[in-house]
Amino acid sequence: MVRVYLHDVTKVFSKSVIALDHVELEVKSGEFMVVMGPSGHGKTTLLRITAGLEEPTDGDVWIGDKLVASARKGVFIPPKDRNVGMVFQNWALYPHMKVFDNIAFPLRIKNMPRQEIEKKVKEVAEVLGIAETLDRYPRQLSGGQQQRVAIARALVKEPQVLLMDEPFSNLDARVRVMARAFVKDIQRRLGITTILVTHDPADALTLADRIAVLRRGVVQQIGLPSEVYDKPFNIFVANFIGDINLIEGFIESNGPGVLFNGGDVKIPLSEKLLEALDERSSVVLGIRPEDIVLSREELQVGDGLVNVGRGVVEISEFAGGKFNVMVRMSGIELKVVSSSSFGIGDQVNVYFNMNKIKLFNKSTETLIY
Ligand code: ATP
Repeated sequence: MVRVYLHDVTKVFSKSVIALDHVELEVKSGEFMVVMGPSGHGKTTLLRITAGLEEPTDGDVWIGDKLVASARKGVFIPPKDRNVGMVFQNWALYPHMKVFDNIAFPLRIKNMPRQEIEKKVKEVAEVLGIAETLDRYPRQLSGGQQQRVAIARALVKEPQVLLMDEPFSNLDARVRVMARAFVKDIQRRLGITTILVTHDPADALTLADRIAVLRRGVVQQIGLPSEVYDKPFNIFVANFIGDINLIEGFIESNGPGVLFNGGDVKIPLSEKLLEALDERSSVVLGIRPEDIVLSREELQVGDGLVNVGRGVVEISEFAGGKFNVMVRMSGIELKVVSSSSFGIGDQVNVYFNMNKIKLFNKSTETLIY
């Protein structure tokens, strides 16, 4: 097992395209790192630089204790000598080759003896549950099976590092859930240092030991899934990793001490929090849909639950075991995930779980609390 370390890596494609901007990323030995970000923000470039399919413009790339790329030091180890397996977004299987030959391909170009190739292909196919497909062509397999073949081909040469580029994007929702569980299980069993890139927060939250969020080639935050979700570094990360209601307001600490929004909604903040904030500073309050509680009756408050006003239900949709509700409260629309259903037009009390709110500085958009 090895660590992967990108030190101050920049990749400039042209004056206007800086795909990676001073990226600092350490993936620990055996760790499952998920790199996420919107389309075109540098994820694939990061993988390609790690694999050696692209050279960094600046910075160093380490795999284990080996410096594999450094523009300044004039070092560049080609992909075949990096001991890295890559699963591409479209899986890139050879359609004219049977599954066996697809998986065997990386070993054949290494000139491995025939018998050894046969043994290794069968072993990896067994591990990935595709042993019975070896004699078929890729087009004769389901999407999930094709993906396993792509993973098998990446793993057959026993790489020290596994790189996966949006491996689930070609799978439909149900197969995707199973494929995620499968990838997580394989990664755990093999203990292989893995970097997976995705734009799907569900991939990141379910698979990652740690998540790195990229925005326009700049790393915004690296942390445990729970850290990134609960303590996002800024509004971009908060929004990207999951649904969040964002309410603009300003601090009014005289009187009961409230965050005052739109004139009508007052959200009481704790004294401790108010002390940390400047009077009349502009903030954005973030609260996730599952941290809002709606009730037709008055609820016993406590445990951080605070009544912030009354609202009217505009939408209530069943979403399998829960309801996605939209509530309007004094000009603010709030998304709520609720365990109970409501009728359109219902008047409800709106409660915020104040232990879960996030406050951002409005101008820098970074997390204050
Ligand atoms: P996606 O999720 O759509 O694959 P991504 O986050 O993986 O996107 P990259 O493919 O890394 O993003 O691209 C980052 C930026 O670099 C984009 O603006 C892209 O157009 C640009 N880019 C990538 N490869 C090249 C290249 N070979 N030449 C020029 N520009 C490139």
